[in-house]
Amino acid sequence: MRTFKPEAIQTPRGHFIGGRLVPQADALTVHRPSDGRAHAGLPAADAATVDAAVQDAHAAWRRSDWARRAPRERARVLRRWADLVEADVAQLAPLEAVCSTRPLREAIAWDVPFTAEGLRFFAEYCDKLGGEVAATRQDHLGLVVTEPYGVVGAITPWNFPLVMASWKVGAALAAGNAVVLKPSELTPYSVMRLAELAVEAGVPPGIFNIVHGDGATTGEAITRHPLISKMTFTGSTGTGAAIMASCALHGPKPATLELGGKSPQLVFNDAPDLDKLASIIAGAITGNAGQVCVAGSRLIVQRGIADELAERITERFKAHRPGATWDDTATLSPIISVRQAQRIHEIVQAAREAGAQLRCGGGLYEDGPGGAFYRPTLLESVDATNPAVVQEIFGPVLTLQTFNDEEEGLALAAHERYGLAAGVHTADIGRALRAMRGIAAGTVWINRYGRTSDFVIPTGGFHQSGIGKDLGRQAVEANLRHKSVLIDFGAA
Ligand code: NAD
Repeated sequence: MRTFKPEAIQTPRGHFIGGRLVPQADALTVHRPSDGRAHAGLPAADAATVDAAVQDAHAAWRRSDWARRAPRERARVLRRWADLVEADVAQLAPLEAVCSTRPLREAIAWDVPFTAEGLRFFAEYCDKLGGEVAATRQDHLGLVVTEPYGVVGAITPWNFPLVMASWKVGAALAAGNAVVLKPSELTPYSVMRLAELAVEAGVPPGIFNIVHGDGATTGEAITRHPLISKMTFTGSTGTGAAIMASCALHGPKPATLELGGKSPQLVFNDAPDLDKLASIIAGAITGNAGQVCVAGSRLIVQRGIADELAERITERFKAHRPGATWDDTATLSPIISVRQAQRIHEIVQAAREAGAQLRCGGGLYEDGPGGAFYRPTLLESVDATNPAVVQEIFGPVLTLQTFNDEEEGLALAAHERYGLAAGVHTADIGRALRAMRGIAAGTVWINRYGRTSDFVIPTGGFHQSGIGKDLGRQAVEANLRHKSVLIDFGAA
């Protein structure tokens, strides 16, 4: 059985600046969501510490030849980093699992290899994105040259600590930038190992620095720092708005924002293989206990199969076994904190008061293993204004709405705030493509749900779900700025 003793996991204490651990006294406590216990302390960088990290990154960026290095050499370093990450799974996976909601089993099979493969993907772009030769008058040569920004500030959430960080850092480094990262203060440890491995692989010290702390002090100090030329952020829509405002005030500087979602699963009567579909839909809201930005949280199903599908989803919900991330037999992750579990429950209660019927779930497991484990919940008879439909819950709560025809289904799929992802399930290719065109979302999955390792397909939101893309060519391009050059060679 793959497991570990949580108390035995040693966590790095300090920031990572200039290629090494920089100890600082603890100011925060990091808890284990699996059993609710305090695990270890964490320093909190104030503006002076953030300044030291950014100055160090900027100096390293200028001093080292990271940006000017032959692109294939940069690619080689990033590929080596990916190899080291993959080989380090025995250390990285428990570090990831101990204070997060990521089960060890999944960290081994998915988070760590997915992180490594993402870094490889970005490495491949190092020498693939050039500039342009512009159409100019014949005695001139016009060039559009791409250059890195310098130091990119990255701020990431707690739900997939390694993967989210690797998408930000991989893209920025491949484009020749330096990065100062602030991981979530709830899940700060695994990225420290990631940074150590970067240096081991040959990323020059200082090119990837990490500072710890909360959003209000440390995060804000990063966004406002004059040497941070671009921000990249993943987290909630409210925080994204605050970061954009800070970037506007203290720059202006560009920001890539990957934000919240309330993604629909639109199911038509002719959807193939109801059993498989029930597993896809249940999995898309119970994976990581629904704490996934693209969680398929709104089931919108045509009347003919609504009851049968709901029944099969309910069976799967009830079969879950909650358990610690280090318990190999558990199938359901903890909620990140007691506070977040309370918030989930408050929205479920408000939804019921507003008329939603509870088909299953609706509360915490009473005999959970210590942390807060919320029962997979199905709420039906909800309308478009129900709080469980309107708000991002970020927990294992699925709402069910029914429709008669395509037009009504598409109208329900639209959300007034969010447009991150959507699932469409039908055997009719014409209907699937009409729905794809009709739904305003950054990603539409047809007859499947969730991403694969086809990293070339970017991810990002419409509306209040974000601005810009992670992954894909677009993610690397967002880390480059364009310089225009015009050469007059007319005079002999
Ligand atoms: P959050 O917004 O609370 O925090 C995210 C990060 O921002 C943390 O590191 C936090 O310390 C920092 N932060 C908070 N306030 C800040 C401020 N004023 N200035 C600078 N930094 C600040 O989000 P969370 O609870 O960690 O994550 C859950 C949210 O993330 C959900 O809304 C989820 O949908 C979203 N998310 C989106 C994607 C995506 O790709 N679109 C992926 C994962 C998570």
